[in-house]
Amino acid sequence: MEKLKETGDFLTKDKDFLWHSMKPYNPDATMIAQKAEGSWVTDHHGNRYLDAMSGLWCVNVGYGRTELAEAAYEQLKEMAYFPLTQSHTPAIKLAEKLNELLEDEYVIFFSNSGSEANETAFKLVRQYHQQKGDHGRYKFISRYRAYHGNSMGSLAATGQAQRKFKYEPLAPGFIHVSPPDLYRDDDRADAKPAELKSVKEMDQVMTWELSETIAGVIMEPIITGGGVIVPPDGYMAGIKEVCEKHGALLIVDEVICGFGRTGKAFGYMNYGVKPDIITMAKGITSAYLPLSATAVKKDIYEAFSGSNEYDYFRHINTFGGNPAACALAIKNLEIMERESLFSRSYELGEQLKQSLTSSLAEHPLVGDIRGKGLLVGVELVKDKSSKEPLEVELVNKIIAGCKQRGVIIGKNGATVAGFNNVLTLAPPLNIKLEDLELIIDTLTEEIKSL
Ligand code: PMP
Repeated sequence: MEKLKETGDFLTKDKDFLWHSMKPYNPDATMIAQKAEGSWVTDHHGNRYLDAMSGLWCVNVGYGRTELAEAAYEQLKEMAYFPLTQSHTPAIKLAEKLNELLEDEYVIFFSNSGSEANETAFKLVRQYHQQKGDHGRYKFISRYRAYHGNSMGSLAATGQAQRKFKYEPLAPGFIHVSPPDLYRDDDRADAKPAELKSVKEMDQVMTWELSETIAGVIMEPIITGGGVIVPPDGYMAGIKEVCEKHGALLIVDEVICGFGRTGKAFGYMNYGVKPDIITMAKGITSAYLPLSATAVKKDIYEAFSGSNEYDYFRHINTFGGNPAACALAIKNLEIMERESLFSRSYELGEQLKQSLTSSLAEHPLVGDIRGKGLLVGVELVKDKSSKEPLEVELVNKIIAGCKQRGVIIGKNGATVAGFNNVLTLAPPLNIKLEDLELIIDTLTEEIKSL
């Protein structure tokens, strides 16, 4: 009885005092989470939910890792804070570790969120061109349907109109092109890079916009929030080639794809390219504490070493690279290595896709099942031949049905502005096999019961 009363109070107070990110799925039934362990979250009623989205695609090592809490606690006792205008050992050690993972020489700038990591990239790319005497380069090209953050620059780079509506004008100088879409377009998965429509479009737009005005391209290796859009294998290499041809830098947004989500340390490693800049967040600490990073190729960094007062990167971030967040991140990466979570993500992802394909591919409302590693999307359509997105009410019904049965599934897409018709799965990389099976069975049954 006491517990129920407390529950009622929490819901009222939640409505009175808390402004949620986005609209809660059902404001009268907001889930108030209180405890989490492994892949499971317990709400204020004591109900347990299997979190097939790792929060917001971020709790890569799963919940309840006391060694992460201890790493942060030990560091907080030792030294809670010092700014990275100077330095401290947790940040140095983490930067070294990231270099190891990136398999090349990158210099790391720390921030707190994915949006900030991308803003940092935009500023330093613009300045880099100035430093090189290339004064006309300021435009960034990104893709429709991609999400890059909530701030005025990262939202400008975002290619989802519904997220920008009523906030414009955003930062100027951002242009969008089409992403590849193997499901809706007629490109072949094995096409040569230069033959891909989306690569040709990028090349064409850079020419039309005038190469000398293009600063860089920002892209996720696999568009995540836009509906798990896996590109043809040659696409990224094609884009890198086009960037080189036009003198633009390639920024790869690994905020979701990084740290094992796609079955490799970083998503771009699936496609054999070397980005100029890599932004990362979420999985870097498995979201236990806020931290993000912008990794910059050494030769780009070196352009900032001039003696002129305006030659250095005049960008400051108070909380970026907090020592406890860095210490925790190091431990988080240690866990990923110890438990081989990157290869586990690849293997489980393949199983997940296979099981979903055998149980759902023939279903009339299932248009496509795709993904890499533990990043999988199920695109729902009204009709397999027209590929028209399934009505939002029906998509919501599936999500609600799964939730009612204790499984949290994501809903993304932006196939048509404002339309989320792709169910997304991105569970913790250490998810137990029986939990993965529960996700597959629940989702299959809910779709079949429509
Ligand atoms: N880039 C991508 C690809 C993202 O998915 C997100 C957030 N989901 C961001 C950037 C922004 O990250 P944050 O919410 O930490 O600012």
